[in-house]
Amino acid sequence: MTKPVALSIAGSDSGGGAGIQADLKSMEANGVFATSVITAVTAQNTEAVTMAYDLPTRIIKAQIDAVAKDFDVSATKTGMLSTSEIIRTVAEKVEEHDLFPFIVDPVMISKSGFKLLQDEAIDTLREVLLPLATITTPNIHEVEYLTGEEILSVDDAKEAAKTIFEMGPSSVLVKGGHMNETAEAMDILYDGTAFHTFTADRIRTDNTHGTGCTYASAIAANLAQGWDLGNAIERAKRYVTAAIRNSLDLGSGHGPTNHFF
Ligand code: PLP
Repeated sequence: MTKPVALSIAGSDSGGGAGIQADLKSMEANGVFATSVITAVTAQNTEAVTMAYDLPTRIIKAQIDAVAKDFDVSATKTGMLSTSEIIRTVAEKVEEHDLFPFIVDPVMISKSGFKLLQDEAIDTLREVLLPLATITTPNIHEVEYLTGEEILSVDDAKEAAKTIFEMGPSSVLVKGGHMNETAEAMDILYDGTAFHTFTADRIRTDNTHGTGCTYASAIAANLAQGWDLGNAIERAKRYVTAAIRNSLDLGSGHGPTNHFF
C-alpha cells in the first residue's frame, strides 16, 4: 500500500493546536502521508505563546534534504518562518528539490498576539517566497500587512487579492473568516483571470486555534492527491468548517480545531 506524500515546513506548537502539529493532523486526516520540517519551536498553549526559538538554518536545510531525497513529495506547505534568513533557506530548497505545488500560508501573528514573523522578514516573504507559491492563503490581517491597505469590505478584499497576485504567486486565497462584514465565512480566490468564492457557515465558537494551519494543510493534502485548485479548496473549506464545528473545549484560551470527528 502507498499514499501521496505532503510536506509541512513550519513551527512547533507545544499545545498541539496550531503549527506543525495541526499541519500533520490535517494532512493525515485528508488522505496523505505527512512529513515535517521544523523551523522554530514555540512554548505555547491555548492562551499564549510564551517563547519562540528559531532553529539554525543548517538543520532546516538538512531536514528538507533528508525528506526530499527519500520521498516523492507531492505538495509542500509553509507556516511559521520567523526570519528573512529562514525564508531564503526554504525558498532555495523548494526550488532545488522542485517541491511543488507549493502552498504559502503567510503566518505573521498568532491569535494570542505573538509575532511569528519578524517585521524585517515581511519584505523577504513578499519578494522571495510569494513568487514561488502555487497559492498563498492570507487571512484579512495578513492581507493588510502584505498590501498596507485596510480591508473593510468584500470589494477591498478583491482589490487586495489582485495586489498580492502582482507579487508573483500563481493564485491568492483571501480568507474572510476574520471579516465580520459577511454573514457567512467567505474566501476569495484570484488566479489572475477571475474571482471564485468559497462560502461556509460562520461558526460562533472561541475554539479556533489553528484554523489557518488546518485549512492550508488540507489544501496541500488535496493538491498532493491530484485535485485541481478549485476542488482542493472546496474540499478543504468543508473540512476546516467541520473541524471548527467539532472543535475541542480544551485549555482555558482558544481551544483547538478537531481533526478527526
Ligand atoms: N503557532 C504556530 C507555530 C503557528 O504556526 C501558528 C499559525 O500558523 C500559530 C501559532 C497561530 O495559531 P492561531 O493564530 O490559530 O492561534
